[in-house]
Amino acid sequence: MTYRTHMIVGLSLLVGAVTACSNPSEPADTATAEEPQRTLTLYSARHYDSDKALYAMFEEQAGVKLDVRESKADQLIETMKAEGDQSPADVIITADAGSLWRFQDAGLTQAVASEDLSAIVPQNYRQSQGHWYGLARRLRGIAYDPARWSAEELATWDMLAEDVKSGEICVRSSSNIYNLSLMSEIIHRYGADDAQAWATAIVGNMARNPQGGDTDQIRAIAAGECSIAIVNHYYWVRLGASEKEADRNVATSTTFLVPEFSEGSGSHVNITGAAISATADDVALAEEFIAFLLTETGQSYLTRDTKELPLLDGSALPDGVENVPEFTASDTSLDIYGENQAEAQRLFDLAGWN
Ligand code: FE
Repeated sequence: MTYRTHMIVGLSLLVGAVTACSNPSEPADTATAEEPQRTLTLYSARHYDSDKALYAMFEEQAGVKLDVRESKADQLIETMKAEGDQSPADVIITADAGSLWRFQDAGLTQAVASEDLSAIVPQNYRQSQGHWYGLARRLRGIAYDPARWSAEELATWDMLAEDVKSGEICVRSSSNIYNLSLMSEIIHRYGADDAQAWATAIVGNMARNPQGGDTDQIRAIAAGECSIAIVNHYYWVRLGASEKEADRNVATSTTFLVPEFSEGSGSHVNITGAAISATADDVALAEEFIAFLLTETGQSYLTRDTKELPLLDGSALPDGVENVPEFTASDTSLDIYGENQAEAQRLFDLAGWN
């Protein structure tokens, strides 16, 4: 906005104020301006400029003051536990159903059987009692060297356990929530014994000890350390969209795919989601905010920088995501990612997956 437009807006506000004062006998139609402004406190484990722009739109449109506090998910849980009944948090946003479940498990969320939100969010992208609702989707899949493997040789998670993949796999540590959620679904599908056998075989096929984040695993393929990396889709997309040519070369030298568990089973899909805190006093306002994040505008801003997939079909895809292949989501309830989480870590430990 230029200085000139500032001046015009300022003048018209002044004129409006003068007009209002000159008619004291008129009904007090300005009373709404004097009501205390509604406020909503958001605890978010995200930190993106596009989120901030989106929140500003909600403030403007709904006439709500948003107080946003950002920290890592596990830190937010500790903060909320310490605040207890006095926690100002109304809405919690974090990535991964396994992480949302940790808030729920600590008693920090409330079950809100919202008709509005349930009508928007498909059943397999929300917690069964309404403790949290998906906002965007994320795929745990495989980046691989296409000179070494065909997509058919990596079509299922079981195929990573084959002897022929010995010394070829790069993956981060087992305590990472993305790996715990994947393992939770494997336990759900095959039982603890087979899940442990799978994890043991993966450990046997690792090119190196687990280290670094997902992006590091993709870089390791380009560096010739391994030919298969277990990673979330958006890390691969972000490398492809990077301003650095070296990053883009890493992405173009690899291919991304989304395995199934068995042919036709559908794929492991995770979410970034929102929960209404146990201490929220204005649940309707919290629902209104979450519903706003699920509008066309909300979906576009939530995925623009993260390169996640919009939750709602028909939403525009962020740049670069068109390179992620089509997939069908499995019908496993996201509740499972939380309920099997401790067992997943126990089996990873038994398998020697550091
Ligand atoms: Fe991530």
